Amino acid sequence: MSELTARLDKQLQELKLKGLIPVYKSIAEQAGKKKLNYLEFLSILLEEEIERKKDGSIKAKVAKARFPFFKTMEAFDFSYQPGLNEKEVLRLASLEFIDRKDNGIFLGPPGVGKTHLAVALGVKACNAKYRVNFISASDLLKELQLAWKGGILTDRLLYYSRLNLLIIDELGYIKINQEQSNLLFQLISMRYEKGSIILTSNYGFDDWSKVFDDSIVASAIIDRVIHHSVIFYINGASYRLKNKLDNFSSERGGQK
Ligand code: ADP
Ligand code: MG
Repeated sequence: MSELTARLDKQLQELKLKGLIPVYKSIAEQAGKKKLNYLEFLSILLEEEIERKKDGSIKAKVAKARFPFFKTMEAFDFSYQPGLNEKEVLRLASLEFIDRKDNGIFLGPPGVGKTHLAVALGVKACNAKYRVNFISASDLLKELQLAWKGGILTDRLLYYSRLNLLIIDELGYIKINQEQSNLLFQLISMRYEKGSIILTSNYGFDDWSKVFDDSIVASAIIDRVIHHSVIFYINGASYRLKNKLDNFSSERGGQK
């Protein structure tokens, strides 16, 4: 290592620009080949750092969101769900709904891609620098109950109210008792017209009375969630089944 590069490495470290250390030499080399002037070289170097910072903050946002898996809108096969309004889903993916503080609701049986779409929208929102959190309904209820018992419910509600997008997955898989209904109501009321929610459920609204012990609180929650919302009913076949059927037919194909 030459004296000059050793000094540059140290300077970049001191300026907290460590990310440039592995790249500045090759950028300088390229700049030399292309006969760029000093200002052009400086601009390319700074652009590199800006991109790196952006990337870092998006990665941090995705990590903070706690998605159960990573899925993209591009990986969703709309042809498998012909009943689903692709245009409307893509409109949601433009993320204007987050600025309007509207909600998105995905209803349908297991395996039709509700969580996939919710995650894909969440990832898009992270890329656009929104604060996002993904949580299953059962974890959310457990967390709120714990916070309530520990005397820190207000803190927790405040945390949730600061998010641009809260994704609540799988409402309906477990029964929701009176105490949990009240806690969920507080959360939904706090976000009402202040921040977006994406909700997925295997139950249609008519069946929600089966999920909630308290039907009055249930309808108050539903009212607030569906007001200013886009609702998608996904009624096609399970994608998990598709994979199984594909495997099955390829195995049969192999036996011929
Ligand atoms: P749900 O939440 O409705 O139960 P998931 O979103 O978990 O279903 O989907 C189950 C699996 O199938 C996931 O791996 C998901 O990525 C995949 N999947 C579902 N629907 C589609 C689709 N239309 N195109 C591509 N992958 C899909
Ligand atoms: Mg799911």
